[in-house]
Amino acid sequence: MWTSTLSALLFTLLVIMKGLLIFAALVVAVLGKKTFEGHQVLRIVPKDDVQLSLIKDLEDIIEFELDFWRGVTDVAIPVDVRVPIHNLQSVKIYLETQDIEYSIMIEDLQVLLEEEQMSMATRVTEPRNTDNFDFSRYHTISEIYSFQDMLVAENPNLVSKIVIGQSYEGRPLNVLKFSTGGTNRPAIWIDTGIHSREWVTQASGTWFAKKIVTEYGQDPALTAILNNIDIFLEIVTNPDGFAYTHTSNRMWRKTRKPNPGSSCAGVDPNRNWDAGFGGPGASSSPCSETYRGPKAHSESEVKSIVDFVKSHGNFKAFISIHSYSQMLMYPYGYTSTPVKDQAELHSLAKQAITDLASLYGTSYRYGSIINTIYQASGGTIDWTYNQGIKYSYTFELRDNGRYGFILPASQIIPTAEETWRALMTIMTHTLKNPY
Ligand SMILES: [Zn+2]
Repeated sequence: MWTSTLSALLFTLLVIMKGLLIFAALVVAVLGKKTFEGHQVLRIVPKDDVQLSLIKDLEDIIEFELDFWRGVTDVAIPVDVRVPIHNLQSVKIYLETQDIEYSIMIEDLQVLLEEEQMSMATRVTEPRNTDNFDFSRYHTISEIYSFQDMLVAENPNLVSKIVIGQSYEGRPLNVLKFSTGGTNRPAIWIDTGIHSREWVTQASGTWFAKKIVTEYGQDPALTAILNNIDIFLEIVTNPDGFAYTHTSNRMWRKTRKPNPGSSCAGVDPNRNWDAGFGGPGASSSPCSETYRGPKAHSESEVKSIVDFVKSHGNFKAFISIHSYSQMLMYPYGYTSTPVKDQAELHSLAKQAITDLASLYGTSYRYGSIINTIYQASGGTIDWTYNQGIKYSYTFELRDNGRYGFILPASQIIPTAEETWRALMTIMTHTLKNPY
């Protein structure tokens, strides 16, 4: 009697525990990766200054939980914003009552994300060399890191890997150095992925790396560059954020360092540089997507580049690559005071976007950051320019908002190819105009 009661009790307990385990697994599955079912990306176009400021006010309505994909710039320039499903109605009412026009760019973000996942899921076998690496798909951080190691192993006389520091979570900050010799030659820096959700940038960076080893000795222009100048390429500039976009939240932009006293993590690594730090065009709120951080260079992902660039001391061009909205920009972002090299930087930008467009007709806007996109303080290339690196540029790659950050993988190679043309224009100009 006693034993049967005990075993019945044990059995019941086991059933409950099993139920709990299943429940726990479900919670992990749900909490493990943030979903965006029913989230829409709205395109809002301010038609006058009144509407412009009403749209700017939206940034401060924290309850709406808006995620600005394309920030507020100027009258007639579109603003793209992701709205969670539970706030869609309130946001649309806000816009409609103010008579502000909007359209729905993305009907249901989760549908696009699932398509992206499907395109990554049908993966072939692990590539054993960089010739078999599939550049037409998005890759995880470990796949990109092993790509880098293979590239170095295959081209020991041209490529080496430098670890310039560690991310907050302890990942190596890898930089590929392309060099044909010499000591401390003039150098060009290229980085991609400082904003982790801008996946076409890391994918393009990977393609650039392969392009450089393929074209050296073949393309006379690139060969001339590499015979005189070293190229440094950081593909995964924000590795913690990038890993997080794969495991937990595809829309993550910032670093992953916790902010003391706040439940929101991360700093915007493109507001964290010591150039107009803390000024307009950056947020002091840890929950903001443009949170500048507690102080300039507080993020190791930024500080490692700062230290590397300073100790190297011979960088002549610095190109930081973002997406999206098809723009090529030069400093400044934090002030409307023109840089002293404005005329040269402007005409070189024009040439670069003309060469870019010659491949597929992709049209770019260009100019200084503050005049082309919006005022932004603490940005990368404002700092590099103030360090004396004249050819400081930043790109916003494809597209113009149809897919935004969820650019279909079929566009990776065309994007990389056209961007390469613009990079070659800037790098060749750097070679031919020593200073
Ligand atoms: Zn960005």
